[in-house]
Formats: sequence, structure tokens, C-alpha cells
Amino acid sequence: MSVLFFIYGLFIGSFLNVCIYRIPAGQSVISPPSACGSCGHRLSYFDMLPVVNYVYYKGRCRYCTAHYSVQYPVTELSNGIIYCLMAVKYGFSVYAVFYCMLASLLIVASTIDIKHMIIPDSVNIVGAIIGAMLLIYERETVLDKIFGLLTGFILFAMIAAFTGSMGGGDVKLMAVTGFIFGIKGVLFITLVSFIIGAFVSLILICLNLISRKSRIPFGPFISSAVLLYIFYGSELMAAYFNLFYGRF
Ligand SMILES: [Zn+2]
Repeated sequence: MSVLFFIYGLFIGSFLNVCIYRIPAGQSVISPPSACGSCGHRLSYFDMLPVVNYVYYKGRCRYCTAHYSVQYPVTELSNGIIYCLMAVKYGFSVYAVFYCMLASLLIVASTIDIKHMIIPDSVNIVGAIIGAMLLIYERETVLDKIFGLLTGFILFAMIAAFTGSMGGGDVKLMAVTGFIFGIKGVLFITLVSFIIGAFVSLILICLNLISRKSRIPFGPFISSAVLLYIFYGSELMAAYFNLFYGRF
């Protein structure tokens, strides 16, 4: 089952690359069919085989030999691995499917954020739809989800207003995250995203890759925190409470 999820994840990853390329340009993600960005040659099904094709042609277009970004196989592989881990953790369940969709959405949001410093509204709208479907499936948790949404929105809107280091896309993504995971989830994800953000920024500053004044996209930190919550949320929270408040 996890192998099937992995392979399925690779193919979806290939589609995510299309989304990452086309959404910021305001193009449709469905038509026209994929073509080489350099020579415009239409890609066959073999050309679109995730990872395999990249390795086989050494990262070049086989029609014009233009180099393809390593982002393509990295996106495909990460999506495949996350799907596989999701199957290991949640089995073939409704949650596995929901969380796979969400993880793919976060990969798109993060990569676009890294490349263009924005998180497009369309990405957040799809996130809200995933949240709404989960709400219908779970039923009893409406209030928790609404509080989660408000908490995510207000917390990040305040941080954005005070620090000026966060964009509207981050605020909306956090509101969507709160809507999906409720109040407990949104608090965990907020805290962990800032810890990851501080840690990564510190490493990048030490390596002289950015200066202290550089703007860095926050979407990838929110996304990493969400994945951590999906995979280890309950374990990490139990460990945290044991550490500070003794055993429950
Ligand atoms: Zn080409």
C-alpha cells in the first residue's frame, strides 16, 4: 500500500510542478498540455514520467537539451515520500487522503512562496475547500474549527501588522490551517513554525546566505510545522506537557 501511495505521489508531484509554474503566471493548470518551457515542444507521456525521465535524460529536455531545474524531481520525490509516509501512519483511510491533498497543497504554496514571495489566493481557497470537506466528514467540531480559523487569522494578522515581515498570504494560510486543525492545532503550528523559522534563519545567516535584514518566505515554515503536526503532533504535545507540567 505504501509503495502504491509513493508512486501515486510521484505522479501527483509532476502535476504540482505544473501548478507551481502556471499559478503565479495566471495560467490554467489543466490546459494546454505540458510543453518544454524552453523550446515549446509538447511533452509525451514518457517525457512526463516523474523522476525517471529527469535521471534518464540527465535533467535536460530531449528535444532542445535545455536544462531543467532540479526543483522538478525534488518536488516529485518529496510528494511521493510524504504520500508513502502518510500511508504508513494513517493506512488507507479518509485522513490519509485528506492529509495527502493538504501536503501537496503545502508543497505548491511553499515552492511558489520561495520563488515569488507570495502565496496565491487560489492555493488558500483550495485549502479552505479541503477544510470544509474535513469538517463535513468530522461533523461535531464546528466551533473548534471556527475558533482555530479566527486564532490563526488574528495571531498572524497582528504579527504581520507589528513586524511587517509577513504577507497577507501567510495570514490567510494560517487561517486556513486553523480551520483544518482547530484551536489546539493552530497553537502548535504557530509556535513550531516560529521555532523552525528562527532556526533556519540562523543557519542561513551563519552560512552568509542571507543578511539579517533579508525577507524570507514564511510559507515553508508554516508548511513544515503542519507536516510535523500531522505526523508527530500528539507525541510532541504529550512530551511538551510532561516536560513543563508533570505527568497527566
Ligand atoms: Zn526543450
